[in-house]
Amino acid sequence: MARGEIVINENNCRGCGYCQEFCKRECIVMSEDKFTPLGYILPILADSDKCNACGVCGQMCPHFAIEVYRFIKN
Ligand code: SF4
Ligand code: SF4
Repeated sequence: MARGEIVINENNCRGCGYCQEFCKRECIVMSEDKFTPLGYILPILADSDKCNACGVCGQMCPHFAIEVYRFIKN
């Protein structure tokens, strides 16, 4: 079974929330107390167990701030 992990480039993120909106597995939440270096609200991967590395968050991010990694779990 594939499992995912995402890495968010805080310097590129603009806090738009698209990644949260388009993750159908509800893995991503917008932080309430974490911010990018430019002061935008930072999204975080709240539940990595649910991420299946579909890649949608990375595709929808207008600022190319998300890299998605896929692991194969035996
Ligand atoms: S890779 Fe897919 S499941 Fe994982 S956080 Fe992104 S949109 Fe959600
Ligand atoms: S879609 Fe990209 S720019 Fe928008 S909040 Fe998510 S990581 Fe940041």
